[in-house]
Amino acid sequence: MTKSESLLRAPSFRPLSDESVGNPDPSISPAPRARVQAMMEYHPPLGSRDKLRLDFNENTLACSPKVREALAAVSAGSLTRYPEREPVEAIVAAHLGLKPEQVALTNGVDEAIHVLFETFLEADDELLLPVPTYTMYEVYASATDARAVAVEAADDLQFPFERLLAAINPRTKLIAIANPNSPSGSAATREQLLELAARAPHAVLLVDEAYFHFHGETVMELVGKVPNLIVARTFSKAYGLAGLRLGLMAGPVDLMRWVRRVLSPYSVNSLALVCLKAALEDTAYLDWYVGQVLAARSEFEAAVDRLKIRRWPSRANFILVEIGPLHAEFVRLMRGAGVLVRDRSSDPGCDGRVRITIGTREQMGQAAVALNEALTVLRGGGETL
Ligand code: PMP
Repeated sequence: MTKSESLLRAPSFRPLSDESVGNPDPSISPAPRARVQAMMEYHPPLGSRDKLRLDFNENTLACSPKVREALAAVSAGSLTRYPEREPVEAIVAAHLGLKPEQVALTNGVDEAIHVLFETFLEADDELLLPVPTYTMYEVYASATDARAVAVEAADDLQFPFERLLAAINPRTKLIAIANPNSPSGSAATREQLLELAARAPHAVLLVDEAYFHFHGETVMELVGKVPNLIVARTFSKAYGLAGLRLGLMAGPVDLMRWVRRVLSPYSVNSLALVCLKAALEDTAYLDWYVGQVLAARSEFEAAVDRLKIRRWPSRANFILVEIGPLHAEFVRLMRGAGVLVRDRSSDPGCDGRVRITIGTREQMGQAAVALNEALTVLRGGGETL
């Protein structure tokens, strides 16, 4: 037997007992990077969600039947191949009126955020964030050596434009704006976004249009024209494909080439790639679902108003409502009635506030009944709808 052959053979293999798995000396166990040890932990409350899901701003019903057909047509053989994203990126680019080199598909917008932050943020850089906003910006920022600078909205939770402008400085490397924003539902105007991009030419302006379809306004057509603008979109919301993990970012070619270096070439799996074209093509389904949500939002807002609960105007598929000190009890009561909603009390400036996703008109009728009953209990049988 040669030396290399003997290395390939397992030397007298002994199965590990439970005791031998435990490390007898934890002081010599491998330590993660200091940055990772200090990283913010985030555990989305995804357990026991077999109810009316008004907690994660997903599509509350289903994806397009055309997507189901595309999935059903996937052959066993095709799954043996690595996913090829480029032809699908060309389809999406054409759909958005952009060049293929300007568009990168991602494993949800979360991966776009992660990759963008890893590409641009380093020590001494600042990430500007209007808050409250989407939690993952802060989580991914905490994995970098940059400093996240939170710019808090006033009590009306409108986009804190002037405060953001005032916070721009030579260290600002990235400004992340969810437009519309979560959990507030408020939106920045195109003029405000353009002004921010112009006042921070040394920074990337990320405009996260995850909720675009419910808002209808976009800056996508400015991609490539504004040199520091990157726009993100997701298939998790209106398209109903949160489980497939599909998102995208679009930006000028000279920024996207760096982003592509960091992005895994296979992070979007082949099932997601197969579904994307069908999802884009079925505009009738998308229009129907968005129409349901917008009608249901008005009806549900009216129900909230009748109960004299404070709410914030929303441009997205959710609304934020003020429940007050009994917020946790409210969330429990709603769960008991089969409706999941999301307590946002720990978000900056959101104590006592709960976010409720808007689904179809029928679903929101059910939610309004549950809301009415929960409020009746919390108010001790006082006011009802
Ligand atoms: N951006 C915002 C503003 C969001 O609210 C969310 C989801 N809650 C995301 C991005 C994440 O989208 P995805 O599922 O594509 O990762």
